[in-house]
Amino acid sequence: MFNFGSGPVQRVGRRGFQVAARLGGVVDHRLGLSRRANAAAERHAAPIYEITSSRHVHLTFDDGPSPGFTDAICDLLEAGGHQATFFFTGCNVERHPDLVRRVSAGGHGVGSHSFGHLPQWERSGPRILLDYARGHRAVQQSLGSKPTLFRPPYGHHDWRSALFTKGLRLRQFGWTNEAEDWKPGVTTASIVADLEDAIQPGAVVLLHDAIVDNPAAYDRSATVAAVGELVKVLNQRNLVSRPLAGR
Ligand SMILES: [Zn+2]
Repeated sequence: MFNFGSGPVQRVGRRGFQVAARLGGVVDHRLGLSRRANAAAERHAAPIYEITSSRHVHLTFDDGPSPGFTDAICDLLEAGGHQATFFFTGCNVERHPDLVRRVSAGGHGVGSHSFGHLPQWERSGPRILLDYARGHRAVQQSLGSKPTLFRPPYGHHDWRSALFTKGLRLRQFGWTNEAEDWKPGVTTASIVADLEDAIQPGAVVLLHDAIVDNPAAYDRSATVAAVGELVKVLNQRNLVSRPLAGR
């Protein structure tokens, strides 16, 4: 996916939200994106909101839920006293609604991440808005309440995600750090190496408890094992992962 690195952060109040207006950095070539699509993705990086606390880190997981992985991640986090945020895709929610409820019961944050994880730059405005709405509705139906968090697929923020989040009064989140754990064959060691230094107050860390668009990356074992290691890092640094706050 896209690695925007750490960006400039604006503080708004002592306990308010921070907004990293625009993050520069490297955009990877997921799905063999064209140079033009990558440039568009960089321009459209979703804004990042962070809770200002000296102890809070925000682990986030995209594309799930996925049996055997989402629940394993929850177990590891909860054993260490941590909670994360899961941005679910409607297509996986419809297959595993029980996992949405399991995540919510663990006190984790739940947001939507579209239905079909479509490449927004290739599709029309209405097609994308319908996909966002369908995904959001699937999460709401499984959860029994309205989610207030949203992350567009690929972190691609444009007028459609702006319109969608404003219309439904959602808070949209990007991320500050990721470890390319969506790549087939990625190892636990490389994920931990990429994120160890990023585990700092205010970080919004992107990981994946599922992958929608690449069967070669369906196995999330490396990410699950990395979560176990990252929990150790959090505990050593006296930091705690907390859900992102919605409206
Ligand atoms: Zn995604």
